[in-house]
Amino acid sequence: MLDKRIENYLKIIPKVELHMHIEGSLEPDLMFSLAKRNKLSLPYENIAALKKAYHFDDLQSFLNLYYQGMAVLLKEEDYYDLTMAYMAKAAQQNVCHVEIFFDPQAHLMRGVSFKTVITGITQALEDAKVEFGVSSHLIMCFLRDQSQEDALETLEIAKPYRDKIIAVGLDSAEVGNPPQKFEAVFKAAKDQGYLRVAHLGEESPAPMIWQGLELLDIQRIDHGVQSIGDEKLLQHLAQTQMPLPVCPLSNIKLCVFSEMQQHPLKKLLDKGLCVSIHSDDPAYFGGYMLENYQAVTAALDLSIQDIRLLAKNAIRASFLSKNDQQVLLHKLRDCEY
Ligand SMILES: [Zn+2]
Repeated sequence: MLDKRIENYLKIIPKVELHMHIEGSLEPDLMFSLAKRNKLSLPYENIAALKKAYHFDDLQSFLNLYYQGMAVLLKEEDYYDLTMAYMAKAAQQNVCHVEIFFDPQAHLMRGVSFKTVITGITQALEDAKVEFGVSSHLIMCFLRDQSQEDALETLEIAKPYRDKIIAVGLDSAEVGNPPQKFEAVFKAAKDQGYLRVAHLGEESPAPMIWQGLELLDIQRIDHGVQSIGDEKLLQHLAQTQMPLPVCPLSNIKLCVFSEMQQHPLKKLLDKGLCVSIHSDDPAYFGGYMLENYQAVTAALDLSIQDIRLLAKNAIRASFLSKNDQQVLLHKLRDCEY
């Protein structure tokens, strides 16, 4: 049980979401209503049966369900409704700014056009800015279990929408798909002015994080929790203040750590790394930003100073301008405990 004052503090602080896959925010009830609208049948009788399937042994077992779920996303309005539902939820939790991932290849391979996907998502992001006051950036992820040629082709398809996408990322199955495989596409993205982030060290060991740093020229490492076993890497990450957007509930749900008490977040924070808390695929992992904050605060007995530092790190690690970051840092400072 959390102390009432801490509970309240977690609710009121301004939050910044830096690691959230929009397709992973597809809640079971929306999945069912989109299936109905698109006249598709799901392999589950009802919402309860679908939710029962949300037990995963590792990243791959989740990905299988994740790709199956997104099959209900076909039209622009589907992407709009998905994104709007997420933004409404974010606003409720005092999330002020989001930098969300989308996986264009997972839609292109099902015959959905890039235009359909990006128009639906960006229209919702614009409307959410007006309706809820939540600002946003969009990050296009390449699927690491697909080829680099396919990623390069996707980068080419994205060209007419370059101004709508701030960065490229790298996600999906990590084991067996090292950063090396994507060196050329990250270089090409850099040449086109994209910022770069990559999932590294979620399941694969510390040497893969070193390789990503060396070859991909990235501004953030998504997850990066496997750095915990490499003292030299920890020192390097602390010195360079390389941001690590960490997703605690995801790590437990995918068995990266057996229980929240084993999560290295507090250790990483104490070692001076720029770690922050995020929700990854909230519909599948049992929680959005607030639930992630609550879970780690309870399990790791975080102090108000720890929580404030985590919130501050997220603001500093964002791709917001320095001025916009200052506005949020002031807001955070004004939050009373
Ligand atoms: Zn992720």
